Amino acid sequence: AFVASRFPLEEATLPELSERTKISEGKLLPILDAMADKGLVMDMPYGGTVYYLLMPGLIGFFEFTFMKRRADLPLEKIARLMSEYLAESQAKEFFGSPTPLTRSLVYEENVPVTSEITTYERAREIIREAGFGAVGLCYCRHKKEHLGEECKKGAPVEEICISLGSAARFMARRGFAREKSVDELLAVLDRARSLNLTHITDNIRLKPSFICNCCRCCCELLAGVQMGYHDGIAKTGFAAAVDPQFCDYCGACFTACNVKAIGPVKGERAAGKKKRHAAVSEEICLGCGACIATCKKGALTLIPARNRPVPPLKRKDLYFRILREKGRLTPYIVGGIRKGLRDLLKGKVIPAKVPIINE
Ligand code: SF4
Ligand code: SF4
Ligand code: SF4
Repeated sequence: AFVASRFPLEEATLPELSERTKISEGKLLPILDAMADKGLVMDMPYGGTVYYLLMPGLIGFFEFTFMKRRADLPLEKIARLMSEYLAESQAKEFFGSPTPLTRSLVYEENVPVTSEITTYERAREIIREAGFGAVGLCYCRHKKEHLGEECKKGAPVEEICISLGSAARFMARRGFAREKSVDELLAVLDRARSLNLTHITDNIRLKPSFICNCCRCCCELLAGVQMGYHDGIAKTGFAAAVDPQFCDYCGACFTACNVKAIGPVKGERAAGKKKRHAAVSEEICLGCGACIATCKKGALTLIPARNRPVPPLKRKDLYFRILREKGRLTPYIVGGIRKGLRDLLKGKVIPAKVPIINE
């Protein structure tokens, strides 16, 4: 905890952390290694130097705690405490910003033929362009497992969460995930689609670091939308729509939707079942397409949605925007200026490209 409390907001090298903690580099290195193994710190080799970044709680060491099968922690107790903490105090913090941290991805095969989607909207292209990918445990379903619950859609705990790029390298190196080929990662996407799971990724266009495959019963991100934070996950450029002409109100799509965006048409509840139809709430629908294949009557399709904002380009743009919206930009900027001045006074060459924050 002492070492964590001495971390700056941005990444730092071993000598910088040694100076901040007054612990010699020789003694500090195994401490940082142990913290990285637990997911408290991310270590990133870059240009011959290792940079260390303290992980935030969400998305960060909360998830990492449940991304390994481990016997060194009371996981059942932690699962319960984390669920209470998230429900009681963190939902607004996580989902309440106008710019969400995450966004959903559409099933490309359900996009109408008259519409086009760009590379950053295609899960398969994101995987192909990542350069490195790994697959690991689903943190949410693993946590539920320790609470005695299991996924009602039959989604697995193992080998379903995809991490990409530098994040994936870190996870593979530290035993949180296993390296996979592009074809193997694409097979994970197909498996997720066969289970009608919703893909969720970083709300950025360039190099997202993960694709989660999420269910309506266990996923904490989708739970935020179900709790009423309808823009807590950025939507795709589409929304599901029901053609009442073909809908026989079978209800298959009600339970398929991972954010409970489909229900009976208002005012039709009193009508006989034969006269009722399903309706989609465009305010809630993420446009993920996970429900489409469940409608055997061909009544469900995706249609282009209006006013869906373009995601920020890079991670730093996303954080900048969120911090500005929360009125917390000043410490971030002051921290950056202080670090720049310190480096300048020491005559250090500042790397042209800082590793993960800018990706
Ligand atoms: S966000 Fe979705 S896939 Fe990711 S850990 Fe949670 S349920 Fe699993
Ligand atoms: S109704 Fe919308 S959010 Fe729900 S599964 Fe279908 S496309 Fe996704
Ligand atoms: S699955 Fe299709 S037919 Fe059944 S309620 Fe949904 S839209 Fe209607």
